[in-house]
Amino acid sequence: MNKFNYYMPTKLVFEDGAIQQLGELVTGDSLLMMCDPFLYKNGMAEEVAKQTGISNVVYFHEIEPNPSCQTVDKATALARENNVNVVIGLGGGSAMDASKMVACLIDNDGSILDYYSSGDRELEPRKAQLICIPTTAGTGSEVTNIGVYTNKDTGIKMPFASPYFWPDIALVDAGLTHTLPAHITASTGMDAFTHAIEAYWSVNANPISDALSISVIRTILDNIETAVKDPTNVEARKNMAFASVTAGISFSQTKTTAIHAVSFPLTVDFGASHGLACSITLPAFTKFVYPGNVDKMDYLMNILGYDSIDAFVERLRSVMTNIGLQTQLSELGVKETDLDHIVDVSMKAALINFTPVKVTRENLYTLLKSIL
Ligand code: NAD
Repeated sequence: MNKFNYYMPTKLVFEDGAIQQLGELVTGDSLLMMCDPFLYKNGMAEEVAKQTGISNVVYFHEIEPNPSCQTVDKATALARENNVNVVIGLGGGSAMDASKMVACLIDNDGSILDYYSSGDRELEPRKAQLICIPTTAGTGSEVTNIGVYTNKDTGIKMPFASPYFWPDIALVDAGLTHTLPAHITASTGMDAFTHAIEAYWSVNANPISDALSISVIRTILDNIETAVKDPTNVEARKNMAFASVTAGISFSQTKTTAIHAVSFPLTVDFGASHGLACSITLPAFTKFVYPGNVDKMDYLMNILGYDSIDAFVERLRSVMTNIGLQTQLSELGVKETDLDHIVDVSMKAALINFTPVKVTRENLYTLLKSIL
C-alpha cells in the first residue's frame, strides 16, 4: 500500500433537526446568513438564523447558481460593514462556496480577484466562524476546502482551494432537502456520484477515499431513483444526504478528474446545471478510464455485482434516463463546431491531470463527439 495523508478538519453533525444545535455551536455575536433567493423567500434562512440565538443578523440572499466573483465581493462588503464574525452558508454548493470566500475576505482586504485566478495575493487565516448547511444532496462543499467561482468578466469558472475554506462546522439535516424539485434532486445526486467515482479512479486515490467512494456509489445507485420520484421519502433523502457528504469527504482528499474539467465549459457556455454538466459525460468517461485502471475497476464491478464495465455503464445510462437527465451533448445545444472550444477550456483545468488515462486534445475530442 502506498503512503498517504488524510486531513479533514471540519466537525460534522449529521442528524435530523441538526439546525436546533446551532445555538450551542456558534461562537460569535454578529451573523451573516448567505443563501439564494429561494431559501430566503421560503423562510428557511430566517428559521436557521433564529436557531443560532444571535440577534445581530444580516442576510445576503442574492446568490446565483455558479456564484460569480462579483456576487462574492458584494456579500463581502455587507459582511465588513456589519463587523460579522459568524458566516453561515445555507443552500447548495453555490451558497456554501460563496460563504467560504466571504468568511475569509472579511479579514483579508481587497477583492476575491486579488486572490483567485490570476490574483497574486495569498489569503491570511480566516477569523470568522464558518458554518455550512447543505440543502441539496450533491456537492459535498460542506466538507471540502474548495470553492468554485465564475468570473463574469472573463467567462471562466474555476475551482479555488484554501486551507481556510474548510468549514468549522458542517450541519447535515436531510430534512432540508425534501423541497428539492425532481430535476435538482437528479442532477445534484449525480454530482455526488461523479465525486465518488472520480475519487475512486483518481491518481490521488487512497485506501480511505476508496472505501468511502465504494459505499457512496452503491448508496446512490440504490436511492437516487426513489429520491427523485418520491421526494418526501425520508430514508431515500437521508441516504442521499449521507452519500453526498461522504463523497465530499472522499474527493476532498483526491480532487476530481476529467469529468469536472469538462463540466466547467458545459456550464458556462451551455447553461447546464453543475450536476448535469458532470453526469452527461459520466458513462463515456467510465469506459474511457477503464483501460488505465482495469484491476481496480473490476474490483468495483465485482463488489457492486456487475459482470462487466459495459453492464455497469449501461446501468448508469438507464439511471440517468429514469431520473430525467440528458445523456447527449446535443440536448444541451452543443454542436460539433463547439467541441474544439470545450476541449480547449477543459484541457486548461489542472484537474484533468488526475485522470488515470492520459487525456489529450485528440482523445477528448473523440470522446465528446461520441456523445454528441
Ligand atoms: P446550487 O447551489 O446552484 O442550487 C441550485 C438550485 O437549487 C438553486 O436554484 C436553489 O435555489 C435550489 N435549491 C437549493 N436547495 C433547495 C431546496 N432545499 N429546495 C428547493 N430548491 C433548492 O446547486 P448545487 O448543485 O448544490 O451547487 C452547484 C455549485 O457548487 C456549482 O457552482 C459547483 O461548481 C459547486 N460545487 C462545489 C463543490 C465544492 O467542493 N466546493 C463541489 C461540487 C460543486
